[in-house]
Parts: sequence; structure tokens; C-alpha cells
Amino acid sequence: MAGGARVLALTGGVGGAKLALGLARELGPRELSLLVNTADDFKHLGLHISPDIDTLLYTLSGRSSRERGWGLEGETWQVREALENLGAETWFQLGDRDLATHLLRSGRLAAGDSLTAVTRLLGRAMGLEPEVLPMSDDPVSTVVHTAEGDLPFQHYFVRRACEPAVSGFSFEGIEGAAPNPALLERLAAGEIAAVVICPSNPFVSVDPVLQLPGLWQRIAQLSVPVIAVSPIVGGRAIKGPAAKMLAELGMPVDAGAVARHYAARYPGLVDTFVIDSADAALADSIAELGMAVAVTGTLMESLDDKRRLARFVLARAGL
Ligand code: GDP
Repeated sequence: MAGGARVLALTGGVGGAKLALGLARELGPRELSLLVNTADDFKHLGLHISPDIDTLLYTLSGRSSRERGWGLEGETWQVREALENLGAETWFQLGDRDLATHLLRSGRLAAGDSLTAVTRLLGRAMGLEPEVLPMSDDPVSTVVHTAEGDLPFQHYFVRRACEPAVSGFSFEGIEGAAPNPALLERLAAGEIAAVVICPSNPFVSVDPVLQLPGLWQRIAQLSVPVIAVSPIVGGRAIKGPAAKMLAELGMPVDAGAVARHYAARYPGLVDTFVIDSADAALADSIAELGMAVAVTGTLMESLDDKRRLARFVLARAGL
């Protein structure tokens, strides 16, 4: 890429981090900026937890637990046991090593640092090359509207294991939240050469990022390729509640519904929608939405899978 040019990837946690890792391996050290959902951040035991940022930091630095898919490899749970003995709430599991991240973040935030500054510090400490940017330094909180009433995101996601049927989502605080200042500088400087919307949950990972005031319109005006990858493969989510959410919201459970959601909510934003080979039959109906459709294997199990999909996406962006 030309000097200073970067790929901007919008991502949630586990699904997005897989493609982010592939992109990080395929691009040079200063060629990737990751804009990460922070609407599922929350306070627990007085600590500021940023689950998606930590998933990115741990995945990109090779520290993430392979077995669990979240948190750190080689984790121990002594603090959790001690908390349990004290009668504290332990439904949100915090490992001993993971706690170090939350302690450092919470301390720096309390001392007045921005989330962007703390994330940069953590990224450097973990030896990361790509820039990991929280979507905003201002607090935004996803509220899940369910048949049982409104639930804060982590109560829905972790405590209730996504059981209650959803009817919609709102992002508290989003009207007053500014998009990440470092990203705004890069956008103003014309440094973004392509935008990738990772295969993350469209409703609770991608929507909060794109719905920051003015952000999606600004990206759409860039006249650079915007490529989205479907998180739904063969009518299923690989992990997490995306398929269940589609069904509960009355949408078909397929990649086409995700494309239609993006086309309706962010008209003209997505240039190319990447679907899995298993979903090739959906290509024509998605193309009718005014997007190019690209078909390839999108399951990312090995590092090779992740790099291959990253190369495919970059090629579609002309990079
Ligand atoms: P979360 O914030 O940890 O829930 O993670 P994300 O929102 O970033 O990603 C969740 C989505 O990733 C789910 O809808 C999954 O279907 C999707 N996903 C996970 N692994 C893969 C994969 O290998 N390929 C594709 N295409 N999607 C994936």
C-alpha cells in the first residue's frame, strides 16, 4: 500500500478477532487499524471491563485461550474462588491474569487517561503492531430488549446465556459519543485505503460502531472499498447468538438477512458482501441489494484459514 495508507477493520470480539489476526499477518505493521466495539463494556466489582478490546489484544498477541475462545491461555482462578467464598457475584468470570488487565485499565481511567490511551499502553505492553482503537472514548452501553424486559448486555449475554428472546437493542449514550479521535484524524488525513466489516455480530458488535454519530456516513463518503464478511454461514452462527437473534427479530436466518440489515440501515455503505461457499445460492438475491457479492470459504479455524480469508478480502479491496 502507498505510504501512510491503512486498512480500517470494524470488529466485535471473537469472530472479528479471527479475521483481524489474518489481516494483521498479511499487512505491514503500520497498515492496520482496528476499530473495536465498546458498547458491551461494563463495570464489574468496580473494574472497567472491555471484553471485545481484550479479545483483540489477547488474540493478536497470541495470548488467548484456545480452549475457551475468550480470556487468557494458562489462566488460573484463585481470585474467583476467593470472591465466591466471600459471597461475591461470580457469574462474570475473571481469571487471575486477566484481572491484571482490568486493574491496570481501571486505574489509568480513574487517573484521567482516555480508553484510547490505556488501550495503546496495553497494546504496546503486549507487543502488538496493529493499532487497536476503542470505537469511542465515551461510554456507550448496549441494552437488550427482551421478552423479560430490558437487560444490560452482559446480563443477557453471560448471566442469562442469551436465553431471553430479543425484540431489539438500544445503545445508551451513543448520541453523545464521539467516534475515536485517532480514527477521526486518520479519516481526515485520507489515510484509510479500505474498510473491512469483520464477521462480527451485526446487531450487538457492528451496529454500535457504525451508529456512532456521523461515522458510517463519513466512511461511505470516503470512496474507498467497504467489504463486509458474513458472520452467518450455512444458516448458522459459528458461535454466539447472531442466528438466534435473527430468528427472534423475525428475519430469515441466513447471510442474506445480514446483507439486507446493512443495506437498510446503512444505505450505500457496503460495496462487497463476502459470503461462504455454502451460501453461494444466495448471491443473486444479495446482489439485488446493490452490493457486489464475493463467494469463498469463510470458516476460520486455523491461522492459514484466517490469512487466506484476509488475503481474499484485501484482493477484493484491490490491495
Ligand atoms: P463477540 O463480540 O465475541 O460475540 O464476537 P463477534 O461479534 O466479533 O463475532 C461473533 C460472530 O462471529 C458470530 O455471529 C459468529 O457466527 C461469527 N464467527 C465466528 N467464527 C467465524 C468464522 O470462522 N467465520 C465466519 N464467517 N464467522 C465467524
